[in-house]
Amino acid sequence: MLKLYNTYSNKKEDFVPIDSNRVRMYVCGPTVYGEIHVGNARSVLVFDLLYRVLRREYDCVDYARNITDIDDKIIKRANDECTTSAQVAKTWEESFKQNYKKLNALEPNYQPRATDTIEEIIASIGELVEQDFAYEEEGHVLFRVSAIEEYGALSKQNNLIDGARVAVGEYKEDSRDFVLWKPSKLGEPYWNSPWGKGRPGWHIECTAMSAKLLGKSFDIHGGGQDLLFPHHENEQAQNIGLYGKYAGPRYWVHNAMVLFENQKMSKSLGNIVRLSDAFALYDPMIIRFFILSTYYRHALIWKDENIQQAASRYKRWMYHLSDHIDGCEISMQVYDALLDDLNTPLAFAIFDQQLADALRENDVAKLRQLANTLNFFGLFVKKEEDAELMKILEEKLMQRRKARADKNFALADKLREEIESAGYDIIDTQGRSCLKKKL
Ligand SMILES: [Zn+2]
Repeated sequence: MLKLYNTYSNKKEDFVPIDSNRVRMYVCGPTVYGEIHVGNARSVLVFDLLYRVLRREYDCVDYARNITDIDDKIIKRANDECTTSAQVAKTWEESFKQNYKKLNALEPNYQPRATDTIEEIIASIGELVEQDFAYEEEGHVLFRVSAIEEYGALSKQNNLIDGARVAVGEYKEDSRDFVLWKPSKLGEPYWNSPWGKGRPGWHIECTAMSAKLLGKSFDIHGGGQDLLFPHHENEQAQNIGLYGKYAGPRYWVHNAMVLFENQKMSKSLGNIVRLSDAFALYDPMIIRFFILSTYYRHALIWKDENIQQAASRYKRWMYHLSDHIDGCEISMQVYDALLDDLNTPLAFAIFDQQLADALRENDVAKLRQLANTLNFFGLFVKKEEDAELMKILEEKLMQRRKARADKNFALADKLREEIESAGYDIIDTQGRSCLKKKL
């Protein structure tokens, strides 16, 4: 059984989905105004691994990761470059997606953009105003934090903020109140709303999107530790205001930060590592392995020496395993370590041990299993044409699992025929299916 550390309870818990026929995960995605850095990449890869585990455990997994394509930083960049914010967002969204692909991250089922969700955002804000969870002041709509008894329960930060109270803005009732809608200045992008021309705040975007795509309650909400406060606390306040005390996600999962050597990465220190710089030095697969090799709740120390160690470990694996892939059975001992709150250091230590044993005993079946395990982690490099075909066939295999769960056997049979005609057999064992190349 999968266990996950839930930030809300501060405990590792058994993962029990609300509906085991449809597991739902929402992860906060990027604000698209500049190059992706290794901190962004860590969050993408941690939740990509969780998505792979969920897909193995459940027939149907809905995974949504948003794209924040309207924001002050986007507008600023557009002004600096004499272009439109839509153009800035488009350019950087494309760049992010190319980088995800290089990192071999699976595509989520949904990648909603804020600007495509304005209607739902406005409806949600309207509802909050109507229920007195929000108020309008000078063209702004603000969330009334004092109306939510549970505020602070997620991040445990309520008291701290009260203690460190800053001056209340002229239009704010309380310093903790946050913006749901803000008026646009002349020349800035805007949408019409009951509160005038403006644009949405960041927090309401995620609440509106998760409810639209996954429902008022869903299973997992993920993101980087830096989003816990205020972003996730505010999201949860909105969920409660809109849909009641028990709305929103059941499990809040946060990945820890990436440190540059032992320092926080920040603009002011000038030590933010862009992914393009990392790719100039290392193969993306080595970066993927390096990022995943630290337990996701521990700080990842970005240091050349550490990356080089990861690189030689990974190259040794590929050297021994690259001829052994057959897409099927994986090592259950390695997988069991993952089920324990994605304990990747333990999983990879077991992997090392099993590889040493298999090589000593010249155990080809075991080597094959380990190659498949590496493939499960998204760490096996296939030849490009094979990789493209496998991606399509694995998607068909997922659809077939879903069809069988829905008892749509005609569709399941059709998908099987399509997979077989591409030269692969489907092996069904212990309730799982996998692909095996026809001999
Ligand atoms: Zn978010």
